[in-house]
Amino acid sequence: MSQPIADFRSDTMTRPTPAMRAAMAAAEVGDDVWGEDPTVQALERLGAEMLGKEAALFLPSGTMANQVAIHVHCRPGDELLCEERSHVFFYEGGSIARLSGTQTRTLVAADGFPSPAQVLAAVRADDPHFPRSRLLVLENTHNMAGGRVADAARMRALADAAHERGLLVHVDGARLANAAVALGCTMAELVAAADTTTLCLSKGLGAPVGSLLAGSAAFTAEARRARKAFGGGMRQAGVLAAAGLLALRDGPTLLAADHARAQRLAAGLAALPWARVDAAATATNIVMVDLPNVTPTSLLVHLKSHGVLAAAAGPQRVRFVLHRDVDDQGVERCLAACRAFAPRLHATDPT
Ligand SMILES: *Cc1c(COP(=O)(O)O)cnc(C)c1O
Repeated sequence: MSQPIADFRSDTMTRPTPAMRAAMAAAEVGDDVWGEDPTVQALERLGAEMLGKEAALFLPSGTMANQVAIHVHCRPGDELLCEERSHVFFYEGGSIARLSGTQTRTLVAADGFPSPAQVLAAVRADDPHFPRSRLLVLENTHNMAGGRVADAARMRALADAAHERGLLVHVDGARLANAAVALGCTMAELVAAADTTTLCLSKGLGAPVGSLLAGSAAFTAEARRARKAFGGGMRQAGVLAAAGLLALRDGPTLLAADHARAQRLAAGLAALPWARVDAAATATNIVMVDLPNVTPTSLLVHLKSHGVLAAAAGPQRVRFVLHRDVDDQGVERCLAACRAFAPRLHATDPT
C-alpha cells in the first residue's frame, strides 16, 4: 500500500527507534545465563529501582514473566484468583494449568478490578476437600476492560485483603507505565503492596522484545531457575536489553500523548451512530468500541481499505490501541475513515 498505514491493532507494533538500534549495535554483552551480560544487569537494576523491588529479571515476553511468577508462587493443585478476562487466564494458552498444574478461580468485575470483599469471599477454607488458595493476580492497566486503571490505594486494599488470608499477590503490569502516567504516580507506588510485578518493555514503551519480572531477591533467584526451565535463558541478551534501557528511560514520558490521542479518538467515535464508546472509561491508551449492529469484520475491512488497521476484541467489539508510532494525523485518518463507514444497520446480524 502506498499511503502510510495507521496501525491501531496493538502497542506491540511499535518499532525500535534509530536511537534504540544504535544502542543495540553498540551494546556491551556477555552470556547472561552465566550472569555475564553487563547490559542485562544494568536493565535489571534500573527496572528493580523503578518498580520499587529488590531485584528484577529480564525475560523474552510478558507471558513468560507472568507464568514464571505463577510457577514460583503456586504448587500443582493450588488455586489462584483473577478477574475473568485477565490476560494470564484468557490469553496465555492455558499455561496456568499446562505449566504449573495450578487451577484458576475467576472473579467478575466490570472495570477489571474485583473488590476486596470479592477476594475475601473467594478464598477457600482450610479443608482437605478444597484446593489451597495461593495467589491473587491483578492486571493494571486492565486490557480487556479497556485499559482501566486502579490507583495505589485500591491496589493496596486488594493486596491487604489477600495477604490477610495468606495469599501472595502478583501484578500483571504489562502496561503499568500507562497506569502510572494516567494516575500521576510512580510504578513503584502502584505495586508497593504486591509481592511481584511484571512490566512489558515491548508495548507502549517501544522496545522490540522483552519484559521485566520484579520482586524480592529470594523470589527473583527462584524465578531465574524457572525462566531457565521454561527455555527463557538467553545468551548475549544485552543486544535486547540495550533497547529496553532506552524504553525504561524515555518511554514513559511519551505515554501521556498516547492517552490524549485515545481521548480524542474515543470522543470522535462516540459521535457515530453505529458505535458505542464509553469515552469516560478511556483511561489510558486503549479504546474499546462496541458494535451492536455490525460485525467487527465489516468495519475492519473498510478501515483497512483506508490504510487504518484495528483488531476485533470480541464478537461485537473492536479495539483501537494508541502508541508512539501513531501520530495526530493517524488519529484524524482513522476518524475520517470511520465517518465514511456506512453500514447497513440491522437488528440481528446473520454472522
Ligand atoms: C501483552 C500483555 C501481556 C504479555 O504479552 P506478551 O505478548 O507475551 O509479551 C501480559 N499481560 C497483558 C495484560 C498484556 O496486555
